[in-house]
Amino acid sequence: MPKEIASTVRTDALRQILLERRQEALKDVEDLLARRRMAQSEQREDFVPDTADLALQDADGDQQISLMEIRNHVREQIDEALRRLDEGRYGICDDCGREIGEGRLKAVPFARRCVECQGRAEALEQLDQEKDRTQI
Ligand SMILES: [Zn+2]
Repeated sequence: MPKEIASTVRTDALRQILLERRQEALKDVEDLLARRRMAQSEQREDFVPDTADLALQDADGDQQISLMEIRNHVREQIDEALRRLDEGRYGICDDCGREIGEGRLKAVPFARRCVECQGRAEALEQLDQEKDRTQI
């Protein structure tokens, strides 16, 4: 198979994986919203909550929002990956410019770094956090 065709097949397969992941992330957000609406309508019918219940409800609400933010973040990362795919930059490590392994892209379709560079970046981040802690 000529190289250009092989690369197109690879791009199409990756796009498919990314679109599927995006669909999953969107579905999770939908499910979450549906559950939330159901919980809210049940509460209205059943009882008038006292102060303690209201506090619990708020805490729970916050948690759901943050879960939704994570999902939205995943969606943004996937959108970004799709853009990179269109521009032919997808699957190239941000740090060293080498191709990111296919196994890693399957596990983390929106990865922007190869395994080695990601490991290094995370270690650096951890060092930074430890430095912050000792400064406090
Ligand atoms: Zn790299």
